[in-house]
Amino acid sequence: MLRWSIASVCMGGALEEKLAAAAKAGFRAVEIFENDLTFFRGKPRDARLMAADLGLELVALQPLRDFEAMPDPARAKNFDRAARKLDLMHELGARLLCLCSNVSPDAIDDRERAARDLAELADLARQHGMRIGYEALAWARWVKDWTAAWDIVRAADRDNLGIVLDSFHICVRGNPIEPIAALPAEKIALVQVADAPALTMDPLSLSRHYRCYPGQGDYPIVDYLDAVTRSGYRGPLSLEIFNDQFRGASAAAIAIDGMRSLRAAGEALAAKRAARGDPPLADLPPLPPPPVVERAEFIEFAAGDTAASELTALLEGLGFRRAGRHRSKDVDLYSQGGINFIVNREREGFAHSFSLLHGPSVCAIALGVDSVDKALERASAFECQSYAGKIGPGEATVPAVAGVEGSLIYFIGAGDPAWRDDFALAEPLGPEGSLRKVDHLSNVVRRGEFLSWSLFYGAVLGLKPQPQVEIADPHGAFFSRLLRSPNGELRIALNVGEGGATGVSRFLDAFGGAGFQQIALSSDDIFVAVEAAKASGVAFLPIPDNYYDDLATRFDIAPDLLARMRALGMLYDRVKDGEFFHIYTRTFQDRFFFEIVERRNYDLFGAANTPVRLAAQASLTDADERAEIEFE
Ligand code: MG
Repeated sequence: MLRWSIASVCMGGALEEKLAAAAKAGFRAVEIFENDLTFFRGKPRDARLMAADLGLELVALQPLRDFEAMPDPARAKNFDRAARKLDLMHELGARLLCLCSNVSPDAIDDRERAARDLAELADLARQHGMRIGYEALAWARWVKDWTAAWDIVRAADRDNLGIVLDSFHICVRGNPIEPIAALPAEKIALVQVADAPALTMDPLSLSRHYRCYPGQGDYPIVDYLDAVTRSGYRGPLSLEIFNDQFRGASAAAIAIDGMRSLRAAGEALAAKRAARGDPPLADLPPLPPPPVVERAEFIEFAAGDTAASELTALLEGLGFRRAGRHRSKDVDLYSQGGINFIVNREREGFAHSFSLLHGPSVCAIALGVDSVDKALERASAFECQSYAGKIGPGEATVPAVAGVEGSLIYFIGAGDPAWRDDFALAEPLGPEGSLRKVDHLSNVVRRGEFLSWSLFYGAVLGLKPQPQVEIADPHGAFFSRLLRSPNGELRIALNVGEGGATGVSRFLDAFGGAGFQQIALSSDDIFVAVEAAKASGVAFLPIPDNYYDDLATRFDIAPDLLARMRALGMLYDRVKDGEFFHIYTRTFQDRFFFEIVERRNYDLFGAANTPVRLAAQASLTDADERAEIEFE
């Protein structure tokens, strides 16, 4: 049957940690890399018993290298080596030995000779009751393509010899995928799954450092799984990822990411089959669908007393009104239009712990979804742990899952105002500002977490990732990827620091880790909103005059409009008949800032202005640092 498997090489740590992590993430099959056995303190038999205790099948041992089509005496030594591996496999309890195509400069370009060697190896393996799988490596000396490996396997003609397919080698070489569907299923010994970004570099370096889980790269993994399953293959689908970042992370987290990626890929495969009218694959049960995210219901800030007072003054300056006070906690609700901010000053509990660790910060967001049960079922299907906050008598229970850096993502039934019942609402509220809703959010994450959170938002919340872009910062560069819900109501940018002194990296240092850095709010009339905020004392990011001189050369803008933008520090972009006005507050205590946007038939994010914003933020930070040095 089809079953999800993971190669031990994907994870860091010792073999026992890797096996435990794989089992905990829901895997029932593991491929063992020989290095993991070599470094293992116990005997191969102990690894077999440990795997059995965890309910794990050891599907293969790999790799046997530089074997086929070698001149003597290397050839004879290779058969001795293979015999020792087959002995070891008895102890280990694995039945499939994977052999990758020869990379040795001594290998001979002779497919008939390679086929004879594989036939002899298969005959040797048969005496042990074992099977052999042959895999084309993209950087092999001669056999680089799966089609070439298949020719050799077919010519060797042994029933315990098959081909090992690996999506990385196939896609990096641009090999055809569709003909895989025509392979005899019993001749496919194993199917390995790995994605990678579409980077132009040599395949070996790409493989060693950039392989990633399905959906984290650019390869057509779903087409590959589709072709494999249409062949009739019903064996392990095994993740095989070499990636330094993966091995540097915890084995448990990497195993969970692996399972999430496979389940998401399986779901996309099921959709592809359904669209074609093919029956579902019995071995891959359907998953609960992702929730429809209808809105950001509230954003919760955790802050100590002094910071909370500064923050609420800023919110009031931006036109928010204190709409309510929590019935039993030191928590206030600020509202404007469809935007709700909760400011939590409690001295115990989750928000308090969060602010101790990270300073004043966004500790939770609440998403209005079409069905809370559906959202939780989906989260559980992707191995998320769910939480329910400590609640007082008569207060609403709001279920949540863990987000970036241990912040919480609450699920609330859209249109269900029960959470508001926890607040004594203020009446009357007074005049309302002109901000309407949360437009988008940005997370800053460490480089090693980027793929993981991209996968989380995609799989658990159903957000669609956009292509990754590189953004210049005055002190370096960072990568960014936007994820958006199909209805566009939730948009989250993931920004990743590449080290150095970029604004993103500074955030990671100042914040004590990843988190929400940017909260963009939309307005129907940004000039009214910003002029009112400015009159109330809100400090916006100063934008150099040169920006406006340049803007006048790029776009035809009425002089009085340009003057008004210049006076406020407003940024501008235009695409065809769409216009975008946006402005940033100064960063609040090095943690986060607000952006106010007005969209006029415009669906992008003003990326052309990001370097201007970053330079303005950097010059303020640099000025602060100079001031501190002088003060000292
Ligand atoms: Mg492989």
